[in-house]
Amino acid sequence: MSNQNTQSLQCSFEFFPPKTEQAAVNLRNTVNQLAVLKPSFCSVTFGAGGSTREKTFETVVEIQESTGIEAAPHISCIASTKDNIREVLQAYQAKGIRHIVALRGDMPSGMMSAGEFRYANELVEFIRAETGNHFQIEVAAYPEVHPQAANAEADLHNFKRKVDAGANTAITQYFYNPDAYFRFTDDCEKLGIAIPIVPGIMPITNYTQLSRFSEACGAEIPRWVRKRLEMLGDDRLSIRAFGVDVVTALCQRLLERGAPGLHFYTLNQSESCLAIWENLGLTE
Ligand code: FAD
Repeated sequence: MSNQNTQSLQCSFEFFPPKTEQAAVNLRNTVNQLAVLKPSFCSVTFGAGGSTREKTFETVVEIQESTGIEAAPHISCIASTKDNIREVLQAYQAKGIRHIVALRGDMPSGMMSAGEFRYANELVEFIRAETGNHFQIEVAAYPEVHPQAANAEADLHNFKRKVDAGANTAITQYFYNPDAYFRFTDDCEKLGIAIPIVPGIMPITNYTQLSRFSEACGAEIPRWVRKRLEMLGDDRLSIRAFGVDVVTALCQRLLERGAPGLHFYTLNQSESCLAIWENLGLTE
């Protein structure tokens, strides 16, 4: 695949807010390296229960102002009140932010009150009621089924609630089995869900970390990938090279079968994303 124009695809990068000054410097470098690729937007995650609220805000505003690329905060509603969310929305509106990733999030350990929202569809509904069409709203989708869902069908219908509440686009949890995505999008189509569902792409750079994340979010690492990563041990360069090959092939299959774009979970690192982007011929 070569010379595929990013203009027609929704390609985006996700970052997390830095915790230290050094991490902030590293993130700035990463953002600058990836901004050259002219993504559709960049998003910034939100810590459980609002633990990164200020940092997410600062990072989003800095990315949008310094690069001119649209930046989208993730907002999670669990453990929040309507007043909390209203305040956050107003602050983003005042800074010219027009794009949001709306999530339920997970209850942080030790926090007792679930707040005024139970599920992400209620957050989407609230954002629309408060701000009309000001924001492009992204929601999360789970081709391999959300770990707390009663079953795949219930999860699909719960996804539809978010779309019916006014979501414009969706980003999936990461996966390495493209058939899970194709099956999910086919099922969505049958239910009349017509919004773009962009696959979330997790580059492979660190096996221990990837196993931990995957365990928590229910993403399956295929056995053949695990076995090869186990064999590579601590050899980071070989892991990255193998990861770039595997993830490039995944992205190629997704795009060839019509995925509307790619959303990269960068983990604030640029190397693998740059290599995959180049392999895919996405550069303008
Ligand atoms: P929901 O859509 O509310 O779904 C949560 C669960 O409840 C599912 O099992 C669903 O089937 C079920 N459900 C939904 N609605 C109903 C209903 N009305 N009745 C009964 N059951 C229902 N987490 C963070 O903390 N910060 C982030 O920045 C962050 N970014 C993310 C970005 C992406 C693209 C993705 C895919 C995930 C992200 N997450 C983030 C993780 C996410 O917060 C968790 O997966 C969380 O457990 C679910 O959030 P949700 O918005 O998908 O919830």
